[in-house]
Amino acid sequence: MADSPVELPGRLAILPFRNKVLLPGAIVRIRCTNPSSVKLVEQELWQKEEKGLIGVLPVRDLEAGAVGSLLSPGVGSDSGEGSSKAGVSPVETSKQDTKNGKEPIHWHSKGVAARALHLSRGVEKPSGRVTYIVVLEGLCRFSVQELSTRGSYHVARVSRLDMTKTELEQAEQDPDLIALSRQFKATAMELISVLEQKQKTVSRTKVLLDTVPVYRLADIFVASFEISFEEQLSMLDSVDLKVRLSKATELVDRHLQSILVAEKITQKVEGQLSKSQKEFLLRQQMRAIKEELGDNDDDEDDVVALERKMQNAGMPANIWKHAQRELRRLRKMQPQQPGYSSSRAYLELLADLPWQKVSEERELDLRAAKESLDWDHYGLTKVKQRIIEYLAVRKLKPDARGPVLCFVGPPGVGKTSLASSIAKALNRKFIRISLGGVKDEADIRGHRRTYIGSMPGRLIDGLKRVSVSNPVMLLDEIDKTGSDVRGDPASALLEVLDPEQNKTFNDHYLNVPFDLSKVIFVATANRMQPIPPPLLDRMEVIELPGYTPEEKLKIAMKHLIPRVLEQHGLSSAYLQIPEAMVKLIIERYTREAGVRNLERNLAALARAAAVKVAEQANTLRLGKEIQPITTTLLDSRLADGGEVEMEVIPMGHDISNTYENPSPMIVDEAMLEKVLGPPRFDDREAADRVASPGVSVGLVWTSFGGEVQFVEATAMVGKGDLHLTGQLGDVIKESAQLALTWVRARAADLNLSPTSDINLLESRDIHIHFPAGAVPKDGPSAGVTLVTSLVSLFSNRKVRADTAMTGEMTLRGLVLPVGGVKDKVLAAHRYGIKRVILPERNLKDLTEVPSPILSGMEVCGCIVACLRLLRPPVCCSFANVVLIVDTKLLTLTCVKVHFSHTCVCCITLRMSKVVMEEVYHILQTFGADLYLF
Ligand code: ADP
Repeated sequence: MADSPVELPGRLAILPFRNKVLLPGAIVRIRCTNPSSVKLVEQELWQKEEKGLIGVLPVRDLEAGAVGSLLSPGVGSDSGEGSSKAGVSPVETSKQDTKNGKEPIHWHSKGVAARALHLSRGVEKPSGRVTYIVVLEGLCRFSVQELSTRGSYHVARVSRLDMTKTELEQAEQDPDLIALSRQFKATAMELISVLEQKQKTVSRTKVLLDTVPVYRLADIFVASFEISFEEQLSMLDSVDLKVRLSKATELVDRHLQSILVAEKITQKVEGQLSKSQKEFLLRQQMRAIKEELGDNDDDEDDVVALERKMQNAGMPANIWKHAQRELRRLRKMQPQQPGYSSSRAYLELLADLPWQKVSEERELDLRAAKESLDWDHYGLTKVKQRIIEYLAVRKLKPDARGPVLCFVGPPGVGKTSLASSIAKALNRKFIRISLGGVKDEADIRGHRRTYIGSMPGRLIDGLKRVSVSNPVMLLDEIDKTGSDVRGDPASALLEVLDPEQNKTFNDHYLNVPFDLSKVIFVATANRMQPIPPPLLDRMEVIELPGYTPEEKLKIAMKHLIPRVLEQHGLSSAYLQIPEAMVKLIIERYTREAGVRNLERNLAALARAAAVKVAEQANTLRLGKEIQPITTTLLDSRLADGGEVEMEVIPMGHDISNTYENPSPMIVDEAMLEKVLGPPRFDDREAADRVASPGVSVGLVWTSFGGEVQFVEATAMVGKGDLHLTGQLGDVIKESAQLALTWVRARAADLNLSPTSDINLLESRDIHIHFPAGAVPKDGPSAGVTLVTSLVSLFSNRKVRADTAMTGEMTLRGLVLPVGGVKDKVLAAHRYGIKRVILPERNLKDLTEVPSPILSGMEVCGCIVACLRLLRPPVCCSFANVVLIVDTKLLTLTCVKVHFSHTCVCCITLRMSKVVMEEVYHILQTFGADLYLF
């Protein structure tokens, strides 16, 4: 290493060094491929015996459009091996160069004279292009006085920048410089000692520190770091020794710090290295880097946060102990370990569960609760009364273990909304747990944590979501839970609903008891029968029958329309649905027990209106003079010349005013039809369908409430087989068999054949179909309907279209009671059927049917399969209960019992005179009329 000042010639051939800087004392290896550089090396170094110095001048690419003149051709630049970093900020420049305007370059005004330590020449094949590899050592700084060309490369008139020996000696006496050199050496020493631990070669650098003068050391040290082009340039420009030293000290220190940080990170990583998987290593490094950056959201911190959350969860002492044990286990695990995430999810659940958190119950104001119930729900007087009683008991004894209320009724009758009203009245949170289709006990009680993908049960999950331990919890569709091999959810529910047991409810996943006793449970079901008796025993059933059309009308006018309008951002100023139109919707577009479809249809009208109003706003803002307000949606629905009121805005009309106060859209029959489509139902359906013998009208019970079910029978040439279609279950198939047998056995009595020894099925098959073939059907209550259908078929007489019936048949012809009478009567009423035949023992259920419906209907009780049905009229018009009896089977006691419920009795002609007189007598006692026919 030359440490004595070098003789610098006045002119130097200039090798451009693109985006890089050669500092004095540094050694670089440059591959010259550019023709001008190749020429330079060839002429100045390769061909000369005495190798002189050349100047290495940093250049940088000029951005397009940069200021500067374009200079002589043939100048390119070469770069050192390895990548070069492009500078960004403008630097002092002297000249600009380009190769025929192709590549503008920017010369720096200072460079370093260099000596070639090694030269090698190569010839590329097949082009024959010559290239050189030059190893250069930087010697001293110079500044360019003038740049000119020599052939195809540049030469410059240069002046020396570094101090002479005497100047140096003088400067070395400067106390500032001495202090600076000391500081530099100390930092450099520190760096070396850090590096020493890693690299053996450092000892040579240490020697340098003692032998090389400090001003050269500064360049040598800085040249060995990876620093930006700009920093390199500024180091080159630091001609003043003090500036150079302080800059070098700063750079060395920065390098030292970066090594120390890297060291720290590595140490941290190494401390925790286990199986040195690549992914793991990277994660650890990322963690350390984040920590260094002060980024806290890593796993470790998460665990701390989790612990804090657990501390605040207010767990009971024993559970807290259990949680801590689990937390300790988690801490020992690596995030990549299999059990980590499940353990973590478990602890999160423990921390999220509302062990103590409750919603503050305010002093219960019964009057306000009643008002709120009335405000939200029309009618349902008895149900509301029962809810008020329930609330009153809670008010007097807040921890009372009252029964669990269970609302039973078809969909859309307000079960859910009543339950949420209870929550509102008690100022508690409300959560709905859907139990429909739950067959696995684990859905209620959770999976054990040993299973992969195990989860807590729905109740615990619900409590986590609602985050208070005393919500009103709605167990929705409790009748739809079923049991199979995976256990019996109903038995798990037994524990939930039992106030004695639910204090320590044990969810398999949670594995620690949770107190459910503060939860108020309310259940809903569509039907009562499927609910297992022990579960039913824990609940108080409150039945919500379907609504009558009049009730639906009131509900729509008072509750549904305002709600629907509000939900669609409308008000009565935009849309009005007159009562008559709501009635039409109820009659023609819905045939349901509840009001869900009604609400849906009203919403459809509101949507159509919303489109109109929104488009109206648009059109108005466009400021057209006369603009018929229509909507594409409405238009498409109103196609075929549908008449709907269209607004025309006259010229000069105040637009904003119109938008704010539009004339309301009033729904009329035409609009109903355009928006909702053609009417879906009418009263004539039964009459139309019962147009030929063999068709009868039955009443069935589905989870949607009562329904009218037609039964069609037909005969054809065959071998006496019975064909059944319409997705029938076993019970209903058996009923059909039974009905056929009974009819065949009584063919003579029923006047279907002249003598009893004639086979009704002689060379013919019977086919019975239950329409709505896509809907599965089952149950015994179609017995009477099937008999009627068959008798009608064989006697070739039509059944009365205004009569619907239900009842189970025994083989002997006895009619047994069935369920869902009230819903069935309501269904008949919805279909416009005026006459209903029910099993006699079901007549007592009629008390539940609203009297306005009953008064418009004839109800016939039947003890045995009715023979008189086919002969109208069976009874007088003002009768509301009619008894049809077959005297063969009738005993007087039976008549007596029956008469206590009826006012009119119709008796078949075959009643013996004695019996008839007796009956007449009894009827008189009851003040009833007797009609004989
Ligand atoms: P369910 O739970 O019985 O299936 P919902 O409680 O969901 O029925 O009720 C359906 C819709 O009908 C709700 O918007 C509800 O507010 C409304 N509704 C039902 N019955 C009434 C009623 N008596 N008064 C006012 N709105 C009612």
